Amino acid sequence: MEYNQGMNFMLVISLVLGWLAGWLVNILADVLPNGRKLSRPVCPKCQKKFNWGEYLFFRNCTKCGKRRSLRTLIVQVVMTCVPVLLWFFPGQSLPFPLALVLVIYLAVVLVIDLERRLILHPVSITGAVLGLGIGIFLRGQESISYGITSTLLGGAAGFGVMLLFYYIGELFVKQMSKKGGMPADEVALGFGDVNLSGILGLILGWKAIFACLFFAVLGGGLVSLAIILGMLIARKYKAFTAIPYAPFLILSALFFLFL
Ligand SMILES: [Zn+2]
Repeated sequence: MEYNQGMNFMLVISLVLGWLAGWLVNILADVLPNGRKLSRPVCPKCQKKFNWGEYLFFRNCTKCGKRRSLRTLIVQVVMTCVPVLLWFFPGQSLPFPLALVLVIYLAVVLVIDLERRLILHPVSITGAVLGLGIGIFLRGQESISYGITSTLLGGAAGFGVMLLFYYIGELFVKQMSKKGGMPADEVALGFGDVNLSGILGLILGWKAIFACLFFAVLGGGLVSLAIILGMLIARKYKAFTAIPYAPFLILSALFFLFL
């Protein structure tokens, strides 16, 4: 009886925490790209500021009637489940509060990247600080100097490898635009992806970051292959379609951290 009550209590606490995390992710994803500082969320159609009551209870815009985005609901549902999932998949001995903060952070990066193709600099800097702390915590328990070295090397490796891809992509785009194949302002890989890869390198450390990058690039490559095949079948083939790498980097990192 007591055991059951304890479990129920933990479940309720987890769901409440998850719900709050969902609110936080939605607020940050709505507010950060506009003005890049914390302010009240605005309606994406008419720019009217929501008051917090309307916003938090998913009301439609009172001025133009625009419905709240599907993303708002998806984020709320997924994030509500996250703390329960963290109990089942504790992964690399990351303490629960730290794991939750990390998932909230990655969710914000993911949503903003998917919606705006953008990883903001303040968000990257926050991630670097968070990544440094988590990396040293995870690997510094036996020897602090190993923890710091492995974390910094991991960050440098993640940043460096993606930076290389970034320059190769830029070179490729320049070559293609010389031949008139595509506009010169296309980018193969955003610089935000380079920063994100560095952050994940800090978290995962030297060694694991390479596996993480491998699976992210493989996943991204397979999906773009599928897209190209799909376009060929639909006879709408466009020579160059940039794919967002951030979702693949994040999924790959979550896999290594929690599974
Ligand atoms: Zn509106």
